[in-house]
Amino acid sequence: TANLLLKSEKLSMLGQMAAGIAHEIRNPLTSIKGFIQLLRSNYSNHYYFDIIFSELERINSILGEFLILSKPSVMIFEEQDVKTIVKDIITLSNTQSILNNVQIFLEVESDLPKINCNKNQLKQVFLNLLKNSIEAMATGGIIEVKIQNKGNGEVSVIIKDNGVGIPEDRIPTLGEPFYSTKEKGTGLGLMTSFKIIESHKGRMVINSKVNKGTVIEVIFPAITQQYLEV
Ligand code: ADP
Ligand code: MG
Repeated sequence: TANLLLKSEKLSMLGQMAAGIAHEIRNPLTSIKGFIQLLRSNYSNHYYFDIIFSELERINSILGEFLILSKPSVMIFEEQDVKTIVKDIITLSNTQSILNNVQIFLEVESDLPKINCNKNQLKQVFLNLLKNSIEAMATGGIIEVKIQNKGNGEVSVIIKDNGVGIPEDRIPTLGEPFYSTKEKGTGLGLMTSFKIIESHKGRMVINSKVNKGTVIEVIFPAITQQYLEV
């Protein structure tokens, strides 16, 4: 729809700008971090230095998310198994999920076609989504991940949590930068994910109910037999 096109245009302009600025800010930031560390060793009270350092780290991670947006120009797409990518990410999220009393269950259909993708970018997407689900369950809970062959030349990954949920009127605006309900959130994870999925010709469908939970389905075009024989 017209609405979707507009969103992708906005994102690509924003991405170019963001990448340029992120590059420029990273260099002075690195030298500031170095000098702060030097100063810290001269003082016995490290408290203020630690705050400065953790805030600098925060700026650094925001810049990191922006830099992902600049990658598509040099992106390499390869034939990949979604299952392997998702399994890797679940393993990677293990420490965070255990700390938060969250259990992750994975269900994989046996007959899954491969997809054409950039592995690192997809890892970033699933990491963002799992992280959001874990963060949505302050007292712990269950995340169900399901990978399925949609049967129409598409593969989908469904991530379901029973967390705080998202208000209905907020759902259409998700993907806009800097919307975050978290004290330490950047509000960039979903924007980056939308952008990456879009560059893979996929789509993301979000369903949610406040106090019930959220279901996010990420759908990718599968590599079809026809395509392989060309
Ligand atoms: P951040 O995680 O830094 O806040 P995101 O772009 O990843 O930024 O997410 C934006 C916002 O969308 C979150 O702050 C949260 O309010 C909402 N959100 C995203 N995923 C979920 C989820 N699984 N459950 C509840 N809220 C979510
Ligand atoms: Mg997030």
